[in-house]
Amino acid sequence: MPDKLEPYRRKRSADRTPEPVPADAPALGDGTSFVIQEHHARALHWDFRLERDGVLVSWAVPKGLPMDPKTNRLAVQTEDHPLEYADFAGEIPGAEYGGGRVTIWDRGTYVTEKWSDREVMVVLAGRRVSGRYVLIRTRGKNWLLHRMDPAPAGRTVAPTEIRPMLASSGRVGSRAGFAVEPRWRGVRALAHVDGGRLRLRTGDEAETDETSAYPQLQALGATLGSVTAILDGVLVAAPSSSSLSSATYCVFDLLHLDGHDTVGLSYASRRDLLESLELAGAHWLTTPTGSGADLGLGSVHKRRDSGYEPGTRSPAWIEVRDS
Ligand code: MN
Repeated sequence: MPDKLEPYRRKRSADRTPEPVPADAPALGDGTSFVIQEHHARALHWDFRLERDGVLVSWAVPKGLPMDPKTNRLAVQTEDHPLEYADFAGEIPGAEYGGGRVTIWDRGTYVTEKWSDREVMVVLAGRRVSGRYVLIRTRGKNWLLHRMDPAPAGRTVAPTEIRPMLASSGRVGSRAGFAVEPRWRGVRALAHVDGGRLRLRTGDEAETDETSAYPQLQALGATLGSVTAILDGVLVAAPSSSSLSSATYCVFDLLHLDGHDTVGLSYASRRDLLESLELAGAHWLTTPTGSGADLGLGSVHKRRDSGYEPGTRSPAWIEVRDS
């Protein structure tokens, strides 16, 4: 049989990469296993590999496997990989082919329903992803990856359009039942993160797409990996700079997390979920609670038991300029 791993071997040297580089041609086997590796290469992607005829037939999926049938994703076929690769996790040296961190995102078994040069239909049974998927070749190495089953129970598609909740101004009578946050000065921004990519909508009505104005925030998308989220916060410019690309995203709320809308949850519950994401990077942070007075800012008082009211100027949030 032809050596299916020749293209794989050609791209790698065993002495320069920790990846397996087998010397022998693969033996034919009855494959039923799959693996999905999250690969933080120059561009984040997920490597979807199906064991077949002694190798791992592989696709690079830039935004990961879709979890609902409404979202189709591009999958680019890559060279067949050796079976040993299913166990590989680690750091590929930066200068080598595919340099970057690899983790095993999921693995399991699958059943083949169709397999031709143009169409591959499989039923996956993994820990994170299960269900029927089809790959359809569109052009050359490009395939379209589609989930045929409904989204897993309880999972909803994140809204593509949502407006921020706004604070009303006034005085706070009793502080009981309110949390206090600094009143950040800057540009209000909602960040939609899906498949490791971040889309930024700014303004009080989230009316402007400013994704490309803040390239430093794409790394926040990659940090969240396969987690789907909608974040709310303010883009705060560095004191000595007018450059947008040095602004920091101060995140204070969470509107959607991994297939679940969180707007119906209380402020306190949303904060707990937000803090569990541990967002802290060179250009983003989860804002601390507490008065803004120490920072020379006003404060926003937020009712702990209130839900998130998109597009509403609500008395549940009260802006106090000097506190
Ligand atoms: Mn890869």
